Amino acid sequence: MMRLPEFSYLAPVSVGDAVKLMADHGPAAMLVAGGTDLYPNMKRRQFEPSVLVGLRGIRDMSGVRGSSKTGLTIGAGTSLTAVSSHPDVARHYSGLATAAGLVSSPQLRNMGTLGGNVCVDTRCNYYNQSYEWRKAVNFCMKKDGDICLVAPGSSRCWAVSSSDTAPMLWSLGAQVRLAGPKGERLIPISALYQDDGIQYLSKQPGEVLTDIVLPPCHGWRSAYLKLRRRGSFDFPVLGVAVALRMDGETVREAAITLGAVASQPRPAPEAAALLVGQRLTPELIAAVADAAFKPGKPLDNTDLTHPYRKKMIRVFVARALYSLAHGQPASTNRSNHLPHGQAASTNCPNHGEAASTNCPNHLAHGEAASTNCPNHLAHGEAASTNCPNHLAHGQPAEGQVEDK
Ligand SMILES: Cc1cc2nc3c(=O)[nH]c(=O)nc-3n(C[C@H](O)[C@H](O)[C@H](O)COP(=O)(O)OP(=O)(O)OC[C@H]3O[C@@H](n4cnc5c(N)ncnc54)[C@H](O)[C@@H]3O)c2cc1C
Ligand code: SF4
Repeated sequence: MMRLPEFSYLAPVSVGDAVKLMADHGPAAMLVAGGTDLYPNMKRRQFEPSVLVGLRGIRDMSGVRGSSKTGLTIGAGTSLTAVSSHPDVARHYSGLATAAGLVSSPQLRNMGTLGGNVCVDTRCNYYNQSYEWRKAVNFCMKKDGDICLVAPGSSRCWAVSSSDTAPMLWSLGAQVRLAGPKGERLIPISALYQDDGIQYLSKQPGEVLTDIVLPPCHGWRSAYLKLRRRGSFDFPVLGVAVALRMDGETVREAAITLGAVASQPRPAPEAAALLVGQRLTPELIAAVADAAFKPGKPLDNTDLTHPYRKKMIRVFVARALYSLAHGQPASTNRSNHLPHGQAASTNCPNHGEAASTNCPNHLAHGEAASTNCPNHLAHGEAASTNCPNHLAHGQPAEGQVEDK
């Protein structure tokens, strides 16, 4: 059994006190919110703070304020369960409700916070291991070692940004408020991240993330799709976060951000630009999915193979756009049920187009053996527990296929 190392736990009741405690203890201290990521990491000795500054007692950091008209401010200490079930979030920022609701398991969402999810450590198959495992391979540069075991010639770490909410918040144009010894600052969430597996956050270690600020929703629709092996609690190995501002049937603004393909969320601005001023036709969706495929460059350091994860970018971007085109509520954006689970439904953008070259899923339905099919793996592995789509494909008449 892995045990926690000894540490002192300090429990400030105000943001100012937390900032002071972090400054007093310097590099020996770390912040902890729900502890759902930090404590397991400490058990594996990935972090060895002698002082933890707990944020759970700071009331001001919890709860959702504002409205969809003025924008929402979500306290960083708000649990993921509260975020995903909040009526304004679910209704107006449905992609965020979906992303928060897909993190891990219910127990961890009850303890885990939105701020902790935004700041969650990057991940790698060679790093998220016990101390003994890491020692046996002589460690790596992210902790205790000198080289990268994924890319031995590289001078940087390529550990993967694995937050579900970060890409969605990026697409939604969220800002984050940070409190530090020099006062407060509000920055775009895109400026919080940097593409380095070790220094993945630009904030100072002693700065506390106090709030996540969402802009007014003004007709935005959003969707988040997540790829993982076990739908019950795995981290994402691909996240696709799409936000569109619609004017009737026309897209006025668009953002597409990919998660788990780099050390920070990766936007796909060229793909998003194709949407602006256009109607969401099947041809356009196929072109946008192709364009979004390019910036996603997953490495071979997470679960599932990286070529498969890359292929699924195209599929998930298309599915997210179809769900938004049809104005599906957030809950349906969580799943792949539109193409796969509702074969007889008139709401299904794919069921009636099995032979159409415009349908990103038609190959899956009509040409199961084709190597051109982004879902062929799913079809070739229909009975395999390794296949994230096997449920969808194995249950064509079932309307409630979850995010498998
Ligand atoms: C089995 C398992 C499955 C998981 N699956 C997923 C998943 O599917 N998707 C996913 O995104 N995550 C997943 N996680 C990780 C984790 O549960 C979530 O990311 C959760 O939201 C972290 O929130 P927390 O409050 O528990 O953070 P903590 O563990 O308390 O902290 C995480 C990090 O954030 C820092 N931090 C926390 N709050 C603040 C703050 N306010 N200001 C500055 N720094 C802060 C901490 O110092 C620490 O570095 C999983 C974890 C486990 C153990
Ligand atoms: S990407 Fe390289 S340096 Fe980073 S955690 Fe993995 S093996 Fe270690």
